[in-house]
Amino acid sequence: MSSLLLVSLLPLAAALAYARAPLTAWLAAGLAWLLAMGIAAGWGFWLTLLAMALFAAALGVFLIEAVRIQWVTAPVFALFRRSLPTMSQTEKEALEAGTVWWEGELFAGRPDWTKLQGYPWPKLTPEEQSFLDVETSELCRLTRDWDCTQHGDMPAEVWQYIKSKGFLGMIIPREYGGKGFSAYAHSQVVTKLSTRSSAPAVTVMVPNSLGPAELLLHYGTPEQKQHYLPRLARGEEIPAFALTSPWAGSDAAAIPDAGVVCRGEWQGEEVLGMRINFDKRYITLAPVCTVFGLAFHLYDPERLLGGDEVLGITCALIPHDHPGVDIGRRHFPLNAVWMNGPVRGRDVFVPLDFIIGGPKMAGQGWRMLMECLAAGRSISLPGAKTGMQKMTARAVGAYARVRYQFKTAIGRFEGVEEALARIGANTYLSDAARVMTAGAIDLGEKPSVVSAIVKYHVTERARQTVNDGMDVIGGKGICLGPQNFLGRAYQQIPIGITVEGANILTRSLILFGQGAIRCHPYVLREMHAAREGDLVAFDKALWGHVGFALSNAARALVMGLTGSHFVRVAQGVAPDTRRYYQQLTRFSAAFAFLADLSMSTLGGTLKRKEKLSARLGDILAQMYLASATLRRFEAEGRQAADVPLMHWAIQDCMFRIQQAFEGVIDNFPNRLLAFVLRHFVVFPLGRSFVMPSDKLGHQVAALLLEPSPTRDRLTADVYLPHDVEEPVGALEAALAATIAAEPVEARLREARRQGRFDPKNLATGDVDEIWGVALRAGVISAQDYALIERRNTLRDKVIRVDDFAYDFGLKSVMRELQGQSPAQGRVEGAA
Ligand SMILES: Cc1cc2nc3c(=O)[nH]c(=O)nc-3n(C[C@H](O)[C@H](O)[C@H](O)COP(=O)(O)OP(=O)(O)OC[C@H]3O[C@@H](n4cnc5c(N)ncnc54)[C@H](O)[C@@H]3O)c2cc1C
Repeated sequence: MSSLLLVSLLPLAAALAYARAPLTAWLAAGLAWLLAMGIAAGWGFWLTLLAMALFAAALGVFLIEAVRIQWVTAPVFALFRRSLPTMSQTEKEALEAGTVWWEGELFAGRPDWTKLQGYPWPKLTPEEQSFLDVETSELCRLTRDWDCTQHGDMPAEVWQYIKSKGFLGMIIPREYGGKGFSAYAHSQVVTKLSTRSSAPAVTVMVPNSLGPAELLLHYGTPEQKQHYLPRLARGEEIPAFALTSPWAGSDAAAIPDAGVVCRGEWQGEEVLGMRINFDKRYITLAPVCTVFGLAFHLYDPERLLGGDEVLGITCALIPHDHPGVDIGRRHFPLNAVWMNGPVRGRDVFVPLDFIIGGPKMAGQGWRMLMECLAAGRSISLPGAKTGMQKMTARAVGAYARVRYQFKTAIGRFEGVEEALARIGANTYLSDAARVMTAGAIDLGEKPSVVSAIVKYHVTERARQTVNDGMDVIGGKGICLGPQNFLGRAYQQIPIGITVEGANILTRSLILFGQGAIRCHPYVLREMHAAREGDLVAFDKALWGHVGFALSNAARALVMGLTGSHFVRVAQGVAPDTRRYYQQLTRFSAAFAFLADLSMSTLGGTLKRKEKLSARLGDILAQMYLASATLRRFEAEGRQAADVPLMHWAIQDCMFRIQQAFEGVIDNFPNRLLAFVLRHFVVFPLGRSFVMPSDKLGHQVAALLLEPSPTRDRLTADVYLPHDVEEPVGALEAALAATIAAEPVEARLREARRQGRFDPKNLATGDVDEIWGVALRAGVISAQDYALIERRNTLRDKVIRVDDFAYDFGLKSVMRELQGQSPAQGRVEGAA
């Protein structure tokens, strides 16, 4: 009996921790256990009583608040305050910017799946839908990516269309003449434009994203809003935002650009203002902007504003032609033609009213930027890079059916299938994350950690998708020209990787670093309490934290040992997704414990242990991506035909989560804790996830190779030109023609196999000669021949690549220019 009781001690403790039982329950259970043990083991009355009294006294220290605070919390408090890393104001503002959304649930170890399923799946209003179908499609039609590249810019007609149709004012409210669109509508427009060309997509995306309009909407004075917003909405102003300097890229708060508060002349009067020196680079739209937001450090050495001498980062709006501003040259980012260039200014004097939000917002720029970044970053790059993936899935899938090698459509080869499966599932997952996150913005969230997750992971998955697409289409993707539908996307993928928080930095420093503080239910409270010297608040947070960590460890162990079969999931979810919810709950609990253990044992050094931090961030991010995929599957009505996409995407996330856990545990500095983590928390029964199977990959790849509602859902809103002279238009037609011709091909193959048709002397060098011979031999009908002929014509269009004069026609252009006067030549060349 006593051995039985001894063995039951651990499960009893685990059960209490699992249920996050209050300390009084621990006390009652502990006393009952000691009593039973005393009787069973024959300890006798006094010994049993002594054991119970000692136990009650030990727990009493924790139960009686005054005793606990004085004896236990106070020393921990002192230690915590000493070890708290020093943080600059800008770091603090960056950490605290934005809101916590679904990622908070994943961080807390017990995600409420009913809550996830309750988030409304975004929808367009009729007006937004019409803008997407009509104006956005027309803008796509007007833009020819190759032509834009040749001329270094979009044609004037396209610029005019963008401005006049309100593309630059999608997020500006109607009262200021803007479209007042939802974040989701904005994302849809950017996604669709990106399926055509980055030129209109980026040109439209930047003013609607982290630009002056967003800053003005949130922080602008009424006068600034009245002046700028209607002009921005009408396209009379083109905005840019200038933060990055040659000396401060990722570490943007370290910009050397500086302004000094002083008196100066403005419009004939002496006013209080700022004299600013700045040197910015990489600024999108700068060469064509009429006004730009400028971030700089502001100083007030003479205390003319009556406050501190060092005011901090400040954002001002400066017209492009303001005296002292030097603008207009351009960079050339990887063959992209959207405008990007430097902005410089020497002793530029501007009145204080130029500060966004007026003089009271001097020094508030970093907070403003961080808040807006959370919203903008949730929309622009996820939209642009999902658009690229959708186009890749649509066009590369078609190409893989149309292009034959070894007498077989290349998409039928297992090696190509592998790439196609990744393309399909990554596109499905990225779109799910894009839509769910845009929906969060429309719910009023500014989810800073989620914005970093989608920025990083959608751009990385897009890199994989486009790389896979390039591999599948071979030389067709490599030779640039009007018939190449993927080469430009391939060239420009690194831009998305670098901007809005370069990816290595985002993964290594931001995701977990910010997540651990923002999403953790107790850490921020502990930090606040420690900074403010509030021992009572610290006590509450600390003991909440201890209970939380113990409970997560127990839950991870129990769920690991039971295969998570007993975990409750939201009612009514698709039966074949139930296990995913259960396993994600287990991972969430294990992650929460691992995060706590990492923070408590590594402390401030975790910031420098970027590889560990990155892998912890991977776990959180993959759980978010899997959640979005599950949500999408439900929101779209659990489409049976889409099931392979959903399974592949989630199984891939699960496998990546497992690998990331492995990576943290393998490299955890304390090897004893690593052992405990591996065997008692994370993998008590070993690793159970493997990569998505070949069979599943085959099913996903097959979905890309033929028209179907699933393919249409996966690639919804890809701009599809009807003109077969355009590469994507030709691919669409060629896919249909190839499928129509396949039965005819099969008949011919069968006739040859049976020896009914054995053409000899096919020697004209025409790959299609055999079809004429088969027609004349009566093996195929005239109708069959017509199908084959159409297939062949379209196939040829699809597989041919562009060729050019050996000097790209430059010599004839030079000759023409030499025939003109030198002055004429210069002017027209520049034009
Ligand atoms: C085409 C283009 C458009 C842009 N548009 C704008 C714009 O409109 N406005 C604007 O203000 N800026 C803009 N930028 C700037 C962009 O945001 C920066 O390029 C970006 O912040 C990275 O800075 P960097 O290029 O100087 O790289 P660096 O900061 O030099 O970084 C180089 C590498 O080091 C890594 N790294 C740096 N620090 C760390 C760390 N602590 N841990 C791990 N890795 C780290 C980075 O991830 C990166 O991989 C644009 C840039 C480009 C290329």
